[in-house]
Amino acid sequence: MTTNLTDARAVAAASVSPAAAGLIAQESAHAAHNYHPLEVVVASGDGAWVTDVAGHRYLDCLAAYSAVNFGHSNPVLLHAARAQLGRITLTSRAFYNDQLGPFVTALAELAGKDMVLPMNTGAEAVESGIKVARAWGYRVKGVAPDLANIIVAAGNFHGRTTTIISFSDDESARAGFGPFTPGFRTVPYGDAAALEAAIDENTVAVLLEPIQGEAGIVVPPASYLPAVREITTRHNVLFIADEIQSGLGRTGSTFACDLVGVVPDLYLLGKALGGGIVPVSAVVGNTDVLGVLHPGEHGSTFGGNPLAAAVGLAVVNMLATGEYQQRAPELGARLHAGLRALIGHGVVAVRGVGLWAGIDIDSSLAPGRAVCEALLARGLLAKDTHGSTIRLAPPIVVSAEDVDWAVEQLRLVLADLAAL
Ligand SMILES: *Cc1c(COP(=O)(O)O)cnc(C)c1O
Repeated sequence: MTTNLTDARAVAAASVSPAAAGLIAQESAHAAHNYHPLEVVVASGDGAWVTDVAGHRYLDCLAAYSAVNFGHSNPVLLHAARAQLGRITLTSRAFYNDQLGPFVTALAELAGKDMVLPMNTGAEAVESGIKVARAWGYRVKGVAPDLANIIVAAGNFHGRTTTIISFSDDESARAGFGPFTPGFRTVPYGDAAALEAAIDENTVAVLLEPIQGEAGIVVPPASYLPAVREITTRHNVLFIADEIQSGLGRTGSTFACDLVGVVPDLYLLGKALGGGIVPVSAVVGNTDVLGVLHPGEHGSTFGGNPLAAAVGLAVVNMLATGEYQQRAPELGARLHAGLRALIGHGVVAVRGVGLWAGIDIDSSLAPGRAVCEALLARGLLAKDTHGSTIRLAPPIVVSAEDVDWAVEQLRLVLADLAAL
């Protein structure tokens, strides 16, 4: 059955077409080399599938790191964007616009919080959360000037700005980019006792990914986030959950924190909040925390722009139905069952929740990148991380048949590699 699907659905390029080769050459000549893309040049997308410049189709199992949770060219989101494109796209926050109010109202309600600070990229949401936590520390908690510290976890990924890489422990993200911003303490991820031990009177916040995405879909013990919530409350420390990748449907709930019944003080959102159309990010929290910001203290030219707000509102409205939160675990159960059956057949371990899987490949077979290249040749887009881990996070609109097909492609690739 799956073999027929292979033939019918995705006949991938055996080698790069001349059109693709020219475009790849242009990028390598004139775009900075801060990425090492797989050799596929995408021209269009629809749902969970994309098409390259030569007309070959691929199942997108990266979904732009979950920014495309609702699928490529989602008709509802495109409609919202097109309608707004025809009206007005940018006013700056020097004036009010008629889209921001409805967006922040709906997002606050979805999150069960009072207020939203709209920004653009995920890194900006993280930076904004750090600034808010520091200001809260000085103005509300009473920390002495410039002494605030924030506790973060080993293996974290929160973005690429200089302050954010200051508390990364990934050398390739840091080397050559110092000096770094002080005021951060790193503790092991998943260890609540270590986190509590690192708290002192100057600690203003704990900043965590509820599930570590870039680290390879690392899911902490079920007791961890509830313990962090209890500890931070007891020590009068803010709990900031970076849900930029884990949130907005991917894990089967609106926020990954929901899975363990935890409500942080601040949610950091991004990626899927822009529906894969425009960058939209946000810090979401209650007035007692976000209310510390006063006019002139923080801002962004594009933050809260009408186009972003119109798309963001459409995203929030889609999530408000609960349909995506329900689809992700149903399809995820299928994905995880299929992947677990590959353990011992080229797969060493599988982690994840919902429609989100980190797969450790037997590193004696091939590096993760080579596995992704072989998957590409079979019509499946995926991305390796940390050598031999592969992530699968297809758009939540993916079909059950496509999920089975993806698992089958991985099985075939690993069988081929084992036969070499
Ligand atoms: C992607 C990501 C970010 C950074 O988002 P950008 O839009 O790339 O700046 C921050 N935190 C997490 C958990 C992410 O996955």
